[in-house]
Amino acid sequence: MYRGRLAPSPTGFLHLGHATTFHVAQRRARAAGGALVLRIEDLDRQRCKPEFESALCEDLKWAGLAWDEGPFRQTERLTGYEAAWRQLAQAGAIYPCQCTRRDVTLALSAPHVHEAEGEPLYPGTCRPPTIIARAESAPGARNWRFRVPPGEEIRFLDACAGEQSFVAGRDFGDFLIWRKDGWPAYHLAVVVDDAAMQITEVVRGADLLEATAQQMLLYRALGLRAPSFHHCPLVTGPDGRRLAKRAGALSLRAQREAGARPAW
Ligand code: GLU
Repeated sequence: MYRGRLAPSPTGFLHLGHATTFHVAQRRARAAGGALVLRIEDLDRQRCKPEFESALCEDLKWAGLAWDEGPFRQTERLTGYEAAWRQLAQAGAIYPCQCTRRDVTLALSAPHVHEAEGEPLYPGTCRPPTIIARAESAPGARNWRFRVPPGEEIRFLDACAGEQSFVAGRDFGDFLIWRKDGWPAYHLAVVVDDAAMQITEVVRGADLLEATAQQMLLYRALGLRAPSFHHCPLVTGPDGRRLAKRAGALSLRAQREAGARPAW
């Protein structure tokens, strides 16, 4: 049975890019006679706001986007993330990292900034030379990174974007899976949730293609089966750039206030 999800983050108002991706998710779930789960990705405690959460539910309804299960909030699912952290720690698949974002940038001999996300490729400063299994019971107030297998090619066939290939250690380095503020990082939370919610296909924007490759490594390390993927082309604004949360006039809210109506 097909199971899809809508996974917005309440860090701003939803815009036409979200609505387009969510509409594809809804169409695919309906065509397959499946279900759609609404999951609110509210782990970024600095940027998520309750007013954006209530706005997003209203805006989804206004846009004719409906869900069958949820909303579920990631901040209410910590136990599952901790269990996954423990499994990875015991397998030696992760290690604690003390580097600040600035350290990471300075440690790079040439400023090899990873352009896709403005995230520098981690130079491996805290990566232990050998795999160390860890028996700690909790992550503590530390950042943890996932050891990527350098040089390994990760391939997948995307239902929309076609054949994809990324190389670990070149396209992305050891990435954060736990943050010292006590919450899991995006990649771990999404993998744990998509598996626990038995999602069979993830529909998301094409800006997350590389994130999908990173997540495939996590599925494997956790002994989980990865879902299928459908990455939608990004919606761009009049300036040709992809829409951001500060999309202003292109937010669903502003569209509604201007008298627009969804016409799917
Ligand atoms: N919450 C993420 C966002 O709003 C999307 C996550 C995903 O599709 O995995 O950008």
